[in-house]
Amino acid sequence: MQFDPTEEQTMLADTARRVGEKFGLDYWRELDAKGAFPSEIWQAVCEAGLCGVAIPEEHGGSGLGMLDLAIAVENLCAGGGGVTLSQMFMLNPIFGGVTLARLGNDDQKAAMLPGLVSGELMFAMALTEPNAGSNTLEIETFAEADGTGWRLTGQKIWITAVPQAHKILVIARTKKLSDSAGKTDGISLFVIDRDREGLTHQAIDKLGTRTLPSSMVFFDNVRVESTELVGTLHGGFKQLLDVLNTERVVTTSGLVGTAEIATKLAINYANERKLFRGQPIGSYQAIQFPLAEAHIQTECARLMNYKAASLHDNDRPYGSEANMGKWLAGHAAGQATDRAIQTMGGMGYSKEAHVERLWRDARLFRIAPVSEEMVLNFVAQHDLGMPRSY
Ligand SMILES: Cc1cc2nc3c(=O)[nH]c(=O)nc-3n(C[C@H](O)[C@H](O)[C@H](O)COP(=O)(O)OP(=O)(O)OC[C@H]3O[C@@H](n4cnc5c(N)ncnc54)[C@H](O)[C@@H]3O)c2cc1C
Repeated sequence: MQFDPTEEQTMLADTARRVGEKFGLDYWRELDAKGAFPSEIWQAVCEAGLCGVAIPEEHGGSGLGMLDLAIAVENLCAGGGGVTLSQMFMLNPIFGGVTLARLGNDDQKAAMLPGLVSGELMFAMALTEPNAGSNTLEIETFAEADGTGWRLTGQKIWITAVPQAHKILVIARTKKLSDSAGKTDGISLFVIDRDREGLTHQAIDKLGTRTLPSSMVFFDNVRVESTELVGTLHGGFKQLLDVLNTERVVTTSGLVGTAEIATKLAINYANERKLFRGQPIGSYQAIQFPLAEAHIQTECARLMNYKAASLHDNDRPYGSEANMGKWLAGHAAGQATDRAIQTMGGMGYSKEAHVERLWRDARLFRIAPVSEEMVLNFVAQHDLGMPRSY
């Protein structure tokens, strides 16, 4: 057990911090107000080699591990973007990169991984459906074999960054539930072009993460080529689970980044703002204690995330740690952003102070990508050996 970063990890953290701070809080406030996509920072992230941290070297990446990626994302997000920026990692190096690197064939890897690393190719991931949220195994979107490929029909909801995506990782049934050997049987993964006949999308208005659009996606008899299946036909669900756990690691990193900036902004304000006999409000325990609690929660989330990522990198099971890290980080970021608003009083409610955006954006991650209730279900069942409750 050792808690010190390597020299390489320290350099990676510094690079990520520099890129994140170059596009700091003001950049994100402006984009949030316009609902504009963060293209400039993503280009800078890719140019600095950060998108390709965990992608194999032969495909243009650095071939490092999930722990290195976690450290990079955390520092990048703490520069101003917060957890929203980590969502771009979930979509591209995770749902694009990890999926293709692990499950793709040589042609798929060669065709897509270099573009992902350079930022020329953008991904979205379409799993959630109106009738299948947390109950993922009940998805209904169906890919019907037509002899040379498939025809895809169905509907997805809440899909991030669809208008910007060139490719979508679609999770669909390839066997009707009634013909399956079990609920996990008969689900397959496809990477298809976003821009394809029969695929339409419609934006959903929402509370936060306003720089990354969310959409309903409709598949109306969309042609899927035989070359677009990724992984094993009918066996995609189990393969997807491991990718989802890497998504949790990146989510936790982003939330730790959010918690870090929100706490810092609150402390700076509390130490400057003087009220009652010229004392800084930061000298009151009522202000200090909740920020100290947020800091404790953040450190716990960070450590659990490093443990999850290290286990992953050593080919050991890490699902519990990835889920627990995400649960802790959701709470840490919630506490840090909420208390930052409270610390700043009326200023905390202003756009000028930035913390309202961090609070709005962080709130999502107690619901998605996995809700905290589903994390507790997982822990109760898998770590505590209690009966499955649902
Ligand atoms: C802004 C945004 C972006 C998203 N981006 C994507 C994306 O890019 N791709 C994608 O596929 N999906 C995406 N999602 C979907 C997200 O993963 C789901 O919203 C999430 O998994 C929860 O599903 P749901 O919204 O259907 O809630 P539901 O599953 O309907 O759950 C509602 C509530 O019931 C609770 N609940 C449900 N079942 C149980 C149970 N068994 N025990 C205890 N409590 C339970 C949940 O925890 C939750 O609190 C996004 C969502 C949002 C809001």
